[in-house]
Amino acid sequence: MSPHQKISVDLVIPVFNEAGVVTQMHAHVRSVVDGLPYAFTFIYVDDGSSDSTEGELAALAGTDERVRVISLSRNFGHQAALTAGLDASRGDAVVMLDADGQHPPEMIPQMLDLIVQGYDIVQGQRTDDARLGRFKKWTSGLFYHLLNFISGTRVLPGAADFRAMSRRAVDALKAMPEYHRFLRGMVSWIGFKSAILLYHQEERAGGASKYSFGKMFRLAMDAIFSFSLAPLYVGLSLGGILLLLALAEMVYVLSFWVTGRTSNLAPGWSSLMFVILIVGGMLMVLLGFIGVYVGYIFQEVKRRPVYLIKSDTENGKE
Ligand code: UDP
Ligand code: MG
Repeated sequence: MSPHQKISVDLVIPVFNEAGVVTQMHAHVRSVVDGLPYAFTFIYVDDGSSDSTEGELAALAGTDERVRVISLSRNFGHQAALTAGLDASRGDAVVMLDADGQHPPEMIPQMLDLIVQGYDIVQGQRTDDARLGRFKKWTSGLFYHLLNFISGTRVLPGAADFRAMSRRAVDALKAMPEYHRFLRGMVSWIGFKSAILLYHQEERAGGASKYSFGKMFRLAMDAIFSFSLAPLYVGLSLGGILLLLALAEMVYVLSFWVTGRTSNLAPGWSSLMFVILIVGGMLMVLLGFIGVYVGYIFQEVKRRPVYLIKSDTENGKE
């Protein structure tokens, strides 16, 4: 990328029920990017908001011709909204950031500097923040350790969907049409030259987190079951250990027969019960793991779109 030509940069911003917040955020981002030597486009993806977000975005598009608003037909989730924005983007570079002001726009110049220097991915990593709720901090820490332990794809703890990417990295990402999307893992999977930038996460500019516990849980499931086969191997190893134990017991019982001491064999009801329960429980857990994979495969083979667009200001109004 030559620094002499004006590089076009798309800011991809997923928005779900951020009334009040998104207008404030737009002004903040503008104040940062307006002096920069890039041609910016704001791609707001309205992820089926039910409050006045839609109107606010329309007003932004009315006053700032660089604003493009893509409205999804319903709430598809953060990862799907980001995907919609990436698919729509044509810029030389893309910056993804949240609409709630938690991803400091002040980092954008530095991110783009690195992209111009030849990095394909500049990943924002949240510094440990005391204000981050204890529960979120703890679950997120545990989650990243587990994920890195069981999957071959490295994901930084505290990595956020706050990053800049070059055109070729975005195109690589777009070549992954999977339905269950964990972008942090996918971005790490594609490779390319990457840099990490630490950032300090601000408080939300307003409103509350749109990541309910259910959404967080589904994201964790998507990360684990689409990036790792470890749960299946857990099953395989447990099964192997049980078989070995059974073999040992067989030898033990046979030894009584060989030495003619069968009368010494206690009618071991409790141990039998124990084994039945353990084996039964484990079988169910493993069946569950297999079930999840089958479910994921089922959803992939349906080839359903990750999101559906209701309107796009670039293609005229509804
Ligand atoms: N978001 C979205 N769809 C959703 C949930 C969230 O587009 O179903 C957007 C939200 O508006 C915000 C970003 O994704 O811009 C991150 O969400 P949030 O700030 O609620 O998550 P947190 O920072 O609490 O993890
Ligand atoms: Mg947030």
